[in-house]
Amino acid sequence: MANEGKLPLAGQSALVTGGSSGIGAGIVEAFAAAGAMVAINYHGSRDQAEAAAGRIEAAGGRAFAVKADVAEEEAVDAMVAEIARRFGRLDILVANAGLQKDAAFAEMTLADWRRVIDVNLTGQFLCCRAAVRRFLEQEERPDLSRARGKVICVSSVHEVIPWAGHVNYAASKGGVMLMMKSLAQEVAPRRVRVNSIAPGAIRTPINRPAWETEEALRKLLTLIPYGRIGETEDVAKAAVWLASDESDYVTGTSLFVDGGMCLYPGFENNG
Ligand code: NAD
Repeated sequence: MANEGKLPLAGQSALVTGGSSGIGAGIVEAFAAAGAMVAINYHGSRDQAEAAAGRIEAAGGRAFAVKADVAEEEAVDAMVAEIARRFGRLDILVANAGLQKDAAFAEMTLADWRRVIDVNLTGQFLCCRAAVRRFLEQEERPDLSRARGKVICVSSVHEVIPWAGHVNYAASKGGVMLMMKSLAQEVAPRRVRVNSIAPGAIRTPINRPAWETEEALRKLLTLIPYGRIGETEDVAKAAVWLASDESDYVTGTSLFVDGGMCLYPGFENNG
């Protein structure tokens, strides 16, 4: 194995989009602990991104914060070029940035439909494209990893579970699923691995109303057979595995990290 005796991501360069909060911040921390150099993309929260980079550097790692709206082509390409300049290469992309703009379907504005598709789906396309271009043009480093590059899309259980009142969000995540699989098929012969993590309910700012009161949490737990809400660490551990050579034969797969949310919990007592 390329990394025997080393940390699983030792010496590899990673970009985590939306890395200043929630799931992205958890992945940033876990990647740094696994030996990666981490570029922390942010859109709004510069202070949080820079504080995380500062903590990693103070602990002897390498990290920097990089601003870009993932829905903007030029900003994404410039971000990946900046990472290549600072770290010399890019080995891992976690396309995590995402948002919700919820509304009943009849009331949903075109602007809210477009913004969710632009960030959650087109943003992942732009980041994946910039990363794949980089993977294919840079020098191969089999001493760092067996794969030439790795992409992890952060999708959602809503790539398969329909979600009334969130049609734009579910459509974006369903799109991510087939973008990920089609891309995985296309680049597997070049030894680039592409997978998704599909989280269930994870305790982050995006879904605060679903867990911040006891009553809301109790209602949420009826959807989770495993009986607890997910934490960012649950997703971060899966991301480290998918980015490492431990998962070298895994490509084109959605890894559900959801406490069983996709197991039709409503049927637990025979429906
Ligand atoms: P979060 O709101 O903490 O994180 C989303 C991040 O994306 C934020 O840092 C935000 O600033 C960033 N972002 C939004 N628009 C951006 C843009 N245009 N450019 C760059 N960054 C942008 O919430 P989270 O739960 O950590 O969400 C992370 C990902 O996980 C999202 O893709 C979300 O859909 C997905 N997800 C979350 C859950 C959950 O239960 N929390 C479940 C399934 C999927």
